[in-house]
Amino acid sequence: MLRDESITRQRIRPGTVRRIVPYALRHRWPLAALLAATGVDAVITAANPLILKGLIDDGITPGRMPVVVWLSLSIAGLALVDAAAVFAQTWVSGRVGQGLVYDLRTTAFDHVQRQPLAFFTRARTGSLVSRLNTDVVGAQQAVTSLLSQTLSTLLTLTLVLATMFYLSWQITLAALAMVPFFLLPAKAIGRRLQRLTREGMQQDAEMGTMMSERFNVAGAMLAKLYGRPEEESAEFAGRAGRVRDVAVATGVYGRMFVIIVSVLTALTTALVYGVGGGLAIAGTLQLGTLVAMVTLLLRLYGPINQLTNMQINVMTALVSFDRVFEVLDLEPLIAERPDARPAAVAGPAPDIEFDGISFHYPGRGEVGLASLESPTAGVERNDAVPILNEISFRAPAGRLTALVGPSGAGKTTITHLVPRLYDPTAGTVRIGGQDVRDLTMASLRDTVGVVSQDAHLFHDTIRANLTYARPDATERDLIEACEAARIWDTIEALPNGLDTVVGDRGYRFSGGEKQRVAMARLLLKSPPIVVLDEATAHLDAESEAAIQRALKTVLAGRTSLVIAHRLSTIRDADQILVIEGGRVLQRGTHEELLSAGGLYAELYRTQLADQATG
Ligand code: ADP
Repeated sequence: MLRDESITRQRIRPGTVRRIVPYALRHRWPLAALLAATGVDAVITAANPLILKGLIDDGITPGRMPVVVWLSLSIAGLALVDAAAVFAQTWVSGRVGQGLVYDLRTTAFDHVQRQPLAFFTRARTGSLVSRLNTDVVGAQQAVTSLLSQTLSTLLTLTLVLATMFYLSWQITLAALAMVPFFLLPAKAIGRRLQRLTREGMQQDAEMGTMMSERFNVAGAMLAKLYGRPEEESAEFAGRAGRVRDVAVATGVYGRMFVIIVSVLTALTTALVYGVGGGLAIAGTLQLGTLVAMVTLLLRLYGPINQLTNMQINVMTALVSFDRVFEVLDLEPLIAERPDARPAAVAGPAPDIEFDGISFHYPGRGEVGLASLESPTAGVERNDAVPILNEISFRAPAGRLTALVGPSGAGKTTITHLVPRLYDPTAGTVRIGGQDVRDLTMASLRDTVGVVSQDAHLFHDTIRANLTYARPDATERDLIEACEAARIWDTIEALPNGLDTVVGDRGYRFSGGEKQRVAMARLLLKSPPIVVLDEATAHLDAESEAAIQRALKTVLAGRTSLVIAHRLSTIRDADQILVIEGGRVLQRGTHEELLSAGGLYAELYRTQLADQATG
């Protein structure tokens, strides 16, 4: 198969080859088996003509029947051994290749899932998935073909040539002198074919684009309103014509390649017969040697032909490996310090302290691989826009701190800093007096529980979604958590109860119900700190009441940071922070803030009025 020449011109980062070695070494025994099988195959390929020579010169010519029988049998035996070796070759190279895919995929998956949230908000999922699919498979295919084909090509070539030289160096040299006549046109035609193939792909793509643009609803409408069908058809005919011309040329050149190869093979064979025949008549060459030489010669061209593809195969493998390694090289912005300590999860709930926190979202190129980033990410936003400015506050242990303020004020961003979904640009977030960056990720996850506004449920059973937080939870634990989150009645009424499949393509909980499932999930984890973004989706009165009751259980005795959209929720919060423009504008209790006037009192009055009219 001819592959795009541009592949061989790609730049490979230095060190790529060295990095492949450990992956290959993991499969050293299968690799050794592969080498052995390939060796056996190559030896048999080169040895067969020698046996043929013995059969003719030592058996048939002198008329020795036992030699004829014995050598014929050994040719048959070797054929069987060779079949086994070729089978082993295919099997083992498949195993090594797939093992490599497995290694690369699992390593890359593990690495990518540890990337900070900022990475996922910016990366194009498509390109990321393609790295883990297409490139990994590209690496595997190239490696498999390299291992089985190139290895055997090189070995066969060496052994066949050595045998030929051993039998008759004169004929071998004469035959080799023909090789350039074969290689030069082959290379020229190959280049031309590659150009044609690339051009064909381009033309095909353009034709396809034109069809899909004209045939989707919006495009079809535009064409109907403005287009002139005759001109459209003429343009399409032009494109289709170019596709046709390129295809014809590709066919002709492809055929020419085959013809040149067969003509040259025939010419070389004739040459060997001619020169060898002369030597045989002169008595310096035995008949068997001549036959063996011709047989060997025919086995030479296959490998030589494959050598021309080898460079492309090697480069394809390297490019694919390089692209996968690029993903593995992503530096996580948020990493655990080597000397990180576990947070004290047991004992009384710790307090949370924001100390001079400033923050802006990472800009373009700051989260790792620019080639994986969505082209629009960061374009619509000014990257350096400060989102939080010098925010300082303390959320007292075991108490409820509420965040209120207009949308876009930075409330969600504040809550993201506690579980280290992001790290602040300046300042320190402390939990129980410890900088969160000094804590191990695992203990931080156990300490901080988050219920977001649009609580996400995996496409799986309710049970699986709940035990995700605590794999060893018993049936009793699950039911108790659901009861406390005021969602058990709903789940119990489902035909399959806890085993109902939910999520995108499953049973759809309403927004309020989903949040209560998320609260049950959080209760199972039972973290001392709770970060909660109240659901804004319009909740019916009953759902709202259920959420309020669930909240009481979830927040009891825990240090909590709650983004409140309905101010009625937080009338008895221990502390209310009014956030605007990334700053703490006001702070106090409900009563204090109401009597102080300002943004909070304003927000409260507006909501009251809304409720009265709505
Ligand atoms: P709130 O929760 O108070 O409505 P947010 O914290 O969600 O506000 O957002 C504060 C600001 O940060 C907004 O201007 C928003 O556009 C911006 N922002 C939020 N998420 C991101 C992100 N992933 N990347 C860049 N900017 C963001």
